[in-house]
Amino acid sequence: MGKVRVTIWNEYRHEVLEERIAKVYPKGIHGAIAEMLGRHMDYEIRTATLDEPEHGLTQEVLDNTDVLIWWGHMAHNEVSDEVVERVCKRVLDGMGMIFLHSGHHSKPFRKLMGTTCNVKWRENDEKERLWIVDPSHPITAGLPEYIELPKEETYGERFDIPAPDELVFISWFSGGEVFRSGCCYRRGKGRIFYFRPGHEEYPTFYREDITRVLINAVEWAKPFEYPKLTFDHVPTPYEDIPLKQRH
Ligand code: ZN
Repeated sequence: MGKVRVTIWNEYRHEVLEERIAKVYPKGIHGAIAEMLGRHMDYEIRTATLDEPEHGLTQEVLDNTDVLIWWGHMAHNEVSDEVVERVCKRVLDGMGMIFLHSGHHSKPFRKLMGTTCNVKWRENDEKERLWIVDPSHPITAGLPEYIELPKEETYGERFDIPAPDELVFISWFSGGEVFRSGCCYRRGKGRIFYFRPGHEEYPTFYREDITRVLINAVEWAKPFEYPKLTFDHVPTPYEDIPLKQRH
């Protein structure tokens, strides 16, 4: 396999519409993540945003994406169902996908989960501590026992998701909530990671520890050379047994 091809998709509305958010992410959240990943890894990185034709996610782009990272919030409904269908189909076919923060309410995440994906939330500059609960998981490689974010948006359980196939982080917030903040799923041949932090008001995506989580998640979710599988009617048995006569 050549270089891992990572596409970072960002709704890119808060940074354009709100000056105080533009100050935090002058190149957009996608620009910040691209820069941070690029500092450490020799990935083939591209970015795509909502207002590009087909949201920048043409079939060709998706066919050439190993892992798609998704940040969205205020405009989930503006993402066309056709593109959502295309994205989910690529996941089932082996593309890795990482949903960040408010991406829990994005159309593709809800479609892949099959539940409302509702959460409790509060914007109150509370402290978040993400505890590693599965140190055997490759997404935790090189991390300390916990990651502390001095200010983040608070999310709380119940998070209406199917039980994760693997749970990597649980967050505690200084306001009292807890949250399953690092959740792995497998759908078809694809691997999906949901990672909670990354509210647009805070510089979370410039952090080295958060970048480490994203790199580990890309490495975990990237496709490998899948075995070729057979579906549907198989007329010839695998053993030498008599074939049923047709009448
Ligand atoms: Zn938020």
